[in-house]
Amino acid sequence: MATEEEKFVAASDAADEYAEELIASLEQQSLEDIDDLINHTDNRDFELWEELGLDPNLVVEDYEQENERDLDWSLGLAGIFAAASLQFFLDNRQKTIIEPVLSRIDATDGYKIEAEKLKIASKRESDVGAQKIKKSKVIPKRHSRTLSNLSNLSNLELYNELVDIGALSKFDTIVSNAVGSTSRMIAFPAGSPQFKEALSNTISANSRNLKSQNRRSVEAICVAMLIYGRSGQLMMWLIERDSNTCIFCRGNSNKIKTYAKWRLDGLPGAEVCLGGDLCRCHLVPI
Ligand SMILES: [Zn+2]
Ligand SMILES: [Zn+2]
Repeated sequence: MATEEEKFVAASDAADEYAEELIASLEQQSLEDIDDLINHTDNRDFELWEELGLDPNLVVEDYEQENERDLDWSLGLAGIFAAASLQFFLDNRQKTIIEPVLSRIDATDGYKIEAEKLKIASKRESDVGAQKIKKSKVIPKRHSRTLSNLSNLSNLELYNELVDIGALSKFDTIVSNAVGSTSRMIAFPAGSPQFKEALSNTISANSRNLKSQNRRSVEAICVAMLIYGRSGQLMMWLIERDSNTCIFCRGNSNKIKTYAKWRLDGLPGAEVCLGGDLCRCHLVPI
């Protein structure tokens, strides 16, 4: 007999799987669209690019011709890759955010009935006594958005919203990941086949990054909605029970804290996990 916790994890995993299927269905389109966004300006969301501190009129070709390949060059080119991936993610919000969140809510909703049992079962490991949690909490207005509101936001508003609820790494983090993949390009002369190859490798790396970005966004949005728009206050950290879990995540296993406290201490994902974006841990409401 599976325990309630195991059943909850299975439902939560199924929701993750669905989210990954959705993002996988965007794979070819993401390669084409990101390629278009880095090479042409026509489909760029200028408002978003400017907010990110980028000149929306610069394209990869401007960087390819440049001989002075210093830090500014790296940052500027990496910024283009990062902004293009981010815009794709936001442009395709139905599949990258909204549907996955709805499916996770559906999949895990029934377990609220058993929440009390789950809480008792994990109480021993709780480092925040359940009784100490204040039930009444003023809901900040910015967290009262519904999913249908998310559909109507501009890319810029949605970006700020995601950053605000901790669902998306700050743009700086996305850029620094992109800097890693562009650094090889410094070595290749303008227009060389090696430069072109490194370019297309970088596009596909950024396209793959959408997947982990998606998983973490889904999680954080769902959590934020549960905390600020629904009844759950306590979240438990669940790990995959195999040898690939890092020591940090293992240390958090089954710990219960408020979502606000998890945010302070670090949510599952690249910022805290030694495995970076490969972190497979979940926060589940209890
Ligand atoms: Zn980890
Ligand atoms: Zn983890």
